Amino acid sequence: MDISQKNMIDLTGRKVAVIGGARSGLAAAMLLKEVGASPFVSEASNTFDIDRLDEMDIAYETGGHSEKVIESDLMMVSPGVPQDSDVVKQATAHAIPVVSEIELASWFTSNSIAAVTGSNGKTTTTSMLAEMCRNCGMTTFESGNIGTPFSTVVLENLGREMEDAVHVLEVSSFQMEQIHHFKPTVAVILNLSPDHLDRYGTMDAYVDAKLRIVENMTEGDHVVYNSADSLLRRRLKTGGTLVPFALNATDNLLFSLNETKIYDRSEKPFVYLSEISLPGRHNISNFLAAATAARLLKVDEEAIKNVMKTFSGVPHRLEKVRTLDNVTFYNDSKATNIESVKVAVESFKSPVTLILGGRDKGADFKELTPTLADGVKLVITLGEAAERIEKTLPKNPPFLRADSMASAVSLAYKKSIAGDVVLLSPGCTSFDMFDDFENRGDIFREEVMNL
Ligand code: ADP
Repeated sequence: MDISQKNMIDLTGRKVAVIGGARSGLAAAMLLKEVGASPFVSEASNTFDIDRLDEMDIAYETGGHSEKVIESDLMMVSPGVPQDSDVVKQATAHAIPVVSEIELASWFTSNSIAAVTGSNGKTTTTSMLAEMCRNCGMTTFESGNIGTPFSTVVLENLGREMEDAVHVLEVSSFQMEQIHHFKPTVAVILNLSPDHLDRYGTMDAYVDAKLRIVENMTEGDHVVYNSADSLLRRRLKTGGTLVPFALNATDNLLFSLNETKIYDRSEKPFVYLSEISLPGRHNISNFLAAATAARLLKVDEEAIKNVMKTFSGVPHRLEKVRTLDNVTFYNDSKATNIESVKVAVESFKSPVTLILGGRDKGADFKELTPTLADGVKLVITLGEAAERIEKTLPKNPPFLRADSMASAVSLAYKKSIAGDVVLLSPGCTSFDMFDDFENRGDIFREEVMNL
């Protein structure tokens, strides 16, 4: 099937193999069915939710990918399926075009798309931006990596395109691997730091995947990028119009920052930092990115200001759980790479007891050395990465090993004094001991509440 021209693509009656039967695979299959295609869901594992597929009369297989997947006109791969997997190679060998879920969904909406990517802060910034759009009365659809698949939102709104509606989309590097025509009106690139090296092998390959977000953008589209990120500045090439944001003062910023306030181009105070309740300079950076994108989407000043003052954060991202005996506990379970651990620790002036570890993604824990030396009094190691962390990092601050979240929390509490912070910021994925990062954060929260 030829998909080289977006406006010529017609999926009516076409066989589409959907690789992966998790959330985005199921959503894509439903969209495909609705637009008249014939989806076939192929799932490698044996456990997935087949009820919805049965209900919708969508064909599927489990426990592996049969020959049937290469008897299709098009293949859609879920984000969990790497580009170099056998099934993708087979499709390529049979000249079957391969697309990601966001590519597929983008064929069926004409609303503008604001897409947020970066190594850290995507979910937070996507929520901030969506909130700003909503606050000014725009019809706003929030989707992507953040929870609801893009396909689901597109399906719900098929045939009723609204003039002022905007899709605010969180996009991961995995979703970018198989795009062809995907083209945001506004793209936001927050930062680039090492992540997912277990999938990409090299930083270059990871950056290449991330920056594909801008590859189809043209002059009328805006690329909001962090001009303080030297790697991003060096690697970013696009036909879109560049609009910088940054924590440090540089030229051409729509919003700038000094010690006390965010101000706009007229140098008028926009919001005082004392009015913002979210902790951490990284969140100010996220606000600057969201505000810049919002202005480009024509969101009014008042709406942006309101959200800066009222946005209380997203669960599991530096979420305050409780203060007990003047020790404050923060759940940052979503911190699954080194950079997010650094910014979390650096958000506090008080001494931090850090709960670190989980499933190792090949991160370089040594990078944490200066941050730990500066603000951390004790590291409690947890999970599969515990031993490597202890071997890699210097002995000061000291380590204590915990074998469960319950013992990590109780140890941290015992070792803390009034004024301290206990921070779960694992720098690793959760799959060694928990279902996912939400489950890890929930258990941390429960254990803290049980103290
Ligand atoms: P993502 O969706 O990119 O994983 P989240 O908003 O879910 O980002 O936040 C993930 C982790 O990164 C959290 O621990 C959060 O505190 C931290 N974080 C948020 N914004 C930034 C940023 N701009 N730079 C570095 N770390 C950040």
